[in-house]
Amino acid sequence: MPLLSDIAEEARLTALSLADYASDIVDPTVRLGVTGLSRAGKTVFITSLVHNLTKGGRLPLFSAFSSGRIASAALRPQPDDAVPRFDYETHLAALTGGGDVETRHWPDSTRHISELRIALNFESETFFGRNLGRGTLNLDIVDYPGEWLLDLSLLELTYAQWSAKAVAQSRTKGRSKIAAPFHALLKTLDPAADENETQAREAAAAFTSYLRAAREERYALSALPPGRFLMPGDLEGSPALTFAPLDIAPDARAVRGSLHAMMERRYEAYLSTLVRPFFRDHFARLDRQIVLVDLLQALNAGPSAVSDLETALADILSAFRPGRNSWLSRILARRVDKIVFAATKADHLHHTNHDRLEALLAHIAGRAISRADFAGAATDVVALASVRATREATVNRGGDALDCIVGVPQEGQTVAGETYDGKTEIALFPGDLPNDPRKVMADPTHALSAPEGVSEAEWEAFRFLRFRPPLLNGPNDVLPHIRLDRVLEFLLSDRLA
Ligand code: GDP
Repeated sequence: MPLLSDIAEEARLTALSLADYASDIVDPTVRLGVTGLSRAGKTVFITSLVHNLTKGGRLPLFSAFSSGRIASAALRPQPDDAVPRFDYETHLAALTGGGDVETRHWPDSTRHISELRIALNFESETFFGRNLGRGTLNLDIVDYPGEWLLDLSLLELTYAQWSAKAVAQSRTKGRSKIAAPFHALLKTLDPAADENETQAREAAAAFTSYLRAAREERYALSALPPGRFLMPGDLEGSPALTFAPLDIAPDARAVRGSLHAMMERRYEAYLSTLVRPFFRDHFARLDRQIVLVDLLQALNAGPSAVSDLETALADILSAFRPGRNSWLSRILARRVDKIVFAATKADHLHHTNHDRLEALLAHIAGRAISRADFAGAATDVVALASVRATREATVNRGGDALDCIVGVPQEGQTVAGETYDGKTEIALFPGDLPNDPRKVMADPTHALSAPEGVSEAEWEAFRFLRFRPPLLNGPNDVLPHIRLDRVLEFLLSDRLA
């Protein structure tokens, strides 16, 4: 039985989607969602994509572009008045250094939802299409934190059910050590005691610190909901974010006026004021999606991070294939019909390993796809670098020729006692991935093995090294990338035919 609020939501959504369809007839539009957990590379991806499209980048595999059928690609005012615009100009100036290349640096990462429109003016491929004259396809890019998708699972859980689940998860191997301070606090909280704002704040802070620590580079565990605890957008500190799980049974009932009741109220507010509106107003209107994944970071962090990533991918996928009778399936205005999974930052590997990275992601995503009982949308998997910060070279070491990458480590990074100044270039042997993805799943610690003669400690430091963005050759140069064109071909070519 749909709830009254659902019916109102459906009516609102029908109006929204009718407006979408109406504008679609005037100017066909593709709404492309760009998501991924924090630091997966969303901001860099969108900035490079827009730069390459609007400034004539090298995109040989994007056929409509390379064949010259796209006459122009230009930024347009973004159509949704209530959504912030993706700050392309600032991000591009950061990456290129604006007027001074020496100041170039990686831009600020995604913290909330934002949007940008590019109008692609193109000539049809077909005879009939050409006779109709030039067409315009609006590409609306919607950038949003992947953490927010994980909240979908909360809509099916009561506060007590979520509490029991979250506390049990925090006690699992791989997490319990990180969650120790939260567990210590939890012991001091009596769910049946009177409600208490200070306790609620302390519990929320300890729980958030635990979720955040699990995401740190060393552990790289994938995020758990509530997604806004990690990516609050502009609601940091508001009551809807000031709650935490308590140590209660899944069927526990709250006593009126108790700490349990207070937490429950806030959990419900979180769902109704943040989670449902995001899915209804933004997610439900997407046509296509790219999910960015920092697989290299998970591989570097070790086995728990890799299996955790697989679970997170399955959770993300279930948002694109909600159960028939779920709240989301009732409000979905349209179905996402193409999804790309992309392993980012492939420029940290030699190109001889790019196919292996892709095969590995295909393997992990494939398992997630079957676990999420997913079918319907066409999917593709790619290893890419939105902005290529390295080049390649062969280095002789003890008579062996090693396939290396060359780049400028960021200022202040220290490896084997040497601190880099942000100017010096180094050559680095990035390691080889095994050619059989199943080997990595069986034992991810050996995903990227150290070359002979390099100590484990030295190797560890090198694997986490960050490079500066590349130096461009003058104001007309375009950000270099790896396989961005393949992604565009998959996502857009049918709409530009
Ligand atoms: P977001 O949180 O998903 O928006 O992530 P960002 O786009 O801000 O990327 C996070 C960080 O990853 C950046 O600051 C860079 O250090 C790194 N990064 C992202 N894309 C690339 C890439 O294509 N190549 C390299 N070398 N580093 C990248």
